[in-house]
Amino acid sequence: MSEPGSTRAPVFYVRVTSRLFHAASLRKTVLKQTVITLDLEGVLVPEIWIAVAEATGIDELRRTTRDEPDYDVLMRYRLGLLEEHGLKLSAIQKVIGSLAPLPGARAFLDDLRARTQVLILSDTFLQFANPLMQQLGWPTLFCNHLEIVDDKVINYHLRQPDQKRESVLALKRLNYAVISAGDSYNDITMLAEADRGILFCAPNKVKEEFPKFQAVEAYEDLLDAIDSGMRQLG
Ligand SMILES: [Mg+2]
Repeated sequence: MSEPGSTRAPVFYVRVTSRLFHAASLRKTVLKQTVITLDLEGVLVPEIWIAVAEATGIDELRRTTRDEPDYDVLMRYRLGLLEEHGLKLSAIQKVIGSLAPLPGARAFLDDLRARTQVLILSDTFLQFANPLMQQLGWPTLFCNHLEIVDDKVINYHLRQPDQKRESVLALKRLNYAVISAGDSYNDITMLAEADRGILFCAPNKVKEEFPKFQAVEAYEDLLDAIDSGMRQLG
């Protein structure tokens, strides 16, 4: 406390007003940051189910989200094929263990993660992802999971419906600007919800159906598109 008659402000008063001033200035300087969400298969790693089709000779497993827009229809079809051919989880995991990321994917992802935060949003499954995540340096992955009984895949479970779009919405609520990239139908709601959506190595029919999204074909061009988006949104 100040002495009676002193012209100096009490110490307590000075400290409180200083903190209030500091807090007010912090509120004024809150800035939106940018986060990147990437699809996995077809963007950073090969299509897992196509690799399984090639390794097992079950050609019907070649059907992917690039061919079938309805993910539930696609997964019911795949589960039926696994049942029909007696294909167990361990056999699928053995195939996945032999896969490597797409050429240049690790360097691209390392470069991107050095610039900003990156989340992988995938419709793959926890039971499939680890060998490939290890080769990508363990980026953050949000995906679905399989229900397994005695090495048999009996069902699949979404982490939540439309999880890619929901993740983008949640990031936007956290005051992030979101730039998203994907290659297929199951990425469209994510790209549409993002502040900037980019198609990467998408099939022609997807590019023709969704011309509003910038389409790029190489990691170098994807980095440029993301950099451009970050400059505009940041
Ligand atoms: Mg994909």
